[in-house]
Amino acid sequence: MSELKLCQGPLCHTYHTQDRLKGPKDNKTYQTRRRSSFYYGQSNFCSLNCQNDWFYEYGNKAIDHFGRLNEVKHLTEENAWSKRYDWRTSTGESHRHYFLNTITQEQRPLTEAQFDDNNYTLNTGE
Ligand SMILES: [Zn+2]
Repeated sequence: MSELKLCQGPLCHTYHTQDRLKGPKDNKTYQTRRRSSFYYGQSNFCSLNCQNDWFYEYGNKAIDHFGRLNEVKHLTEENAWSKRYDWRTSTGESHRHYFLNTITQEQRPLTEAQFDDNNYTLNTGE
């Protein structure tokens, strides 16, 4: 049996829904949702509402902890590479994966493994 995760929303237990009402018949309480997986916030939240509650409570601390952006970023030829693919199910061909430079419009081929690798990039600047 897979372990259940708890929704990380600090107010999850305060929302009155039937599925949150748990416990013995004479002592039911509204409780934080437990699931094997969640759809929101990298599987940490049961709803967008709970994700927003978390950000409202901890967002500033999180941004300060990981580094607040203090200067504008610029999109240049060096950091404009974006992964794309063409969906080709109707023609029987496999999907075509490629890099597209959104400034120059240059395209470069990409393997599916490179496409799936979140660390693989042609970008040299931020
Ligand atoms: Zn929740």
